[in-house]
Amino acid sequence: MPRLSPVAAVPAAAATAEAPVRRKGEPQPAERFALTVDKSPIDGLGVFAAEPIPARLKIGEMRGEIVPVREARRRIEGRRRIHVVEVTDKTAIDATKSDCALRHVNHSCAPNAVLRIRQGRAEFYAIRDIAAGEEICADYGESHHEGRLRCRCGAPNCKGRL
Ligand SMILES: [Zn+2]
Repeated sequence: MPRLSPVAAVPAAAATAEAPVRRKGEPQPAERFALTVDKSPIDGLGVFAAEPIPARLKIGEMRGEIVPVREARRRIEGRRRIHVVEVTDKTAIDATKSDCALRHVNHSCAPNAVLRIRQGRAEFYAIRDIAAGEEICADYGESHHEGRLRCRCGAPNCKGRL
């Protein structure tokens, strides 16, 4: 039997306390900036910048289960809060059971972020400088709500429904 080396005697907790090192080929983190999820004045939970986010930079992406569009639409029927983005004609991301912060981005008629679908990903970008503490909002335009919900974004140009 080999004897234990001194390295092996280091408690496991000490070894895992170090910051994780991302190796080449590993996935990017879902968030590029510090974000918090908190109660929103607009609706339910919202995402807030925990540090300033400069205009045009990627905030992060909404990750979740990849499902066929048909299945995603079936799942969201009658739901008040929807965490689904259709990323192609055939596929959608359902973040209902995801712990991803960006699934909580609320709609605003005067948004500070934009949702871009790129290569099957649902990515959020800042459209202006966002200060720490601001809620991150995007204009979802044609949403799954199909105009059935009253918009409570509070913007002067609010369209009233989403
Ligand atoms: Zn509005």
